[in-house]
Amino acid sequence: MKVKILGAGPAGLYLAALLKQDNPSHEIEIFEKNPRHATWGFGVVFSDRALEFLKADDQALYDYLTPHLETWPEITVVHNDHHIPIAGNGFSSIGRLELLTLMFAYVEKLDVKINFDIDIKSLADLGSADLIVGSNGAFSWLRDENQQKFGTTVDWRPNRFIWYGTTKPFNSLTLTFRETDAGVFCAHHYRYRPDRSTFLVEVDEQTWHRAGFEKMSEQDTIKYCEKVFANDLEGHPIITNHSHWRQFPAIWNERWSYDNIVLIGDALRTAHFSIGSGTRLAMEDAVALFKALKAHNNDVAAALPYFQEIRLPPMKKIWDAANVSIRWYEEMGHLVKDLTPVEFAYSYMTRTGRVSHQEVKKRDPQLALAYEKLHPDVLQSQ
Ligand SMILES: Cc1cc2nc3c(=O)[nH]c(=O)nc-3n(C[C@H](O)[C@H](O)[C@H](O)COP(=O)(O)OP(=O)(O)OC[C@H]3O[C@@H](n4cnc5c(N)ncnc54)[C@H](O)[C@@H]3O)c2cc1C
Repeated sequence: MKVKILGAGPAGLYLAALLKQDNPSHEIEIFEKNPRHATWGFGVVFSDRALEFLKADDQALYDYLTPHLETWPEITVVHNDHHIPIAGNGFSSIGRLELLTLMFAYVEKLDVKINFDIDIKSLADLGSADLIVGSNGAFSWLRDENQQKFGTTVDWRPNRFIWYGTTKPFNSLTLTFRETDAGVFCAHHYRYRPDRSTFLVEVDEQTWHRAGFEKMSEQDTIKYCEKVFANDLEGHPIITNHSHWRQFPAIWNERWSYDNIVLIGDALRTAHFSIGSGTRLAMEDAVALFKALKAHNNDVAAALPYFQEIRLPPMKKIWDAANVSIRWYEEMGHLVKDLTPVEFAYSYMTRTGRVSHQEVKKRDPQLALAYEKLHPDVLQSQ
């Protein structure tokens, strides 16, 4: 089978690896607009649960990646100066560039050709293939130019975020919320290598305007954020890498393929970074597409609808949870003000509706108990 893959992110790379491992006679080519060593951002996280899925699906890749991961057993929620560690929430992280570099080596060893530095702008540029895979990320032109066929919706959320890094190595995945005169600031931060952490700052729209970020220079923006999070950064600087304020596009497609063209990864759907599942979902799409092709003996016309059929239910659950999580962050201005630190941490844990009181109790009995003291009625609702 001749396969052309647009975009060398986790989705496209992993699909190439799975197909080629299974059948070395497949002709697979990947086209990536960036040079080999370029990437945006800092580190990405996987929850323990996401890694369990990878382990179940692909022990070899799991064994290959895990030595490169930073891991920790808990999340910390910081409500102004109150630190609340929440047990039972293991996470791992890795630099995005390191993950991609490892994946490049993994697929190249399997004899997949990755063409770097090629900005493919049309299907004609790609040439003919039995299967064309659109794994070119959230801003996929392939999807945008065929919105009618895919039934695309893009819901631009109002919060603003900026993906920074810092030299401070944080000890756990931490969500820090700080009240300022302009409004509440949130930082999502975690170590992804011994001397670096991701430091993503998020604010609601009103706070963003009140702080004056619209007209602020890059350096002044950094200084402003360093001041807000001075107690957390403890003198470490914020560092940038093509960092700029963005809004999150919640993307969905009703139809995932047409003819021999299929979307996977962020091109297919985005899941808000607050649930730390974007990379996992992208890789799971690749697994499902591979399984669908295999089930139909690489008959692309039969496999593509089957891919959507088997992948939709598990993926939709996480996508729905991500969208509820987005809205929780959009309400953080009220939540930080109205809730005590314990209530706030509890609200964070249960925000998507997928974690019940029983589950909080299982993961962190101390937090559950502290919450029960404030809200004894929670025991009746179990
Ligand atoms: C701020 C932020 C924080 C995030 N944090 C996390 C996190 O903590 N954990 C997590 O799991 N996920 C996180 N994600 C999401 C994660 O990065 C993505 O979900 C994941 O990378 C999706 O993989 P992908 O392969 O679908 O797309 P991408 O990783 O976006 O890869 C797409 C590739 O296609 C290439 N491409 C685009 N256009 C073209 C073209 N015309 N020609 C050739 N190549 C092209 C791009 O250069 C890119 O390399 C975050 C995302 C953002 C924006």
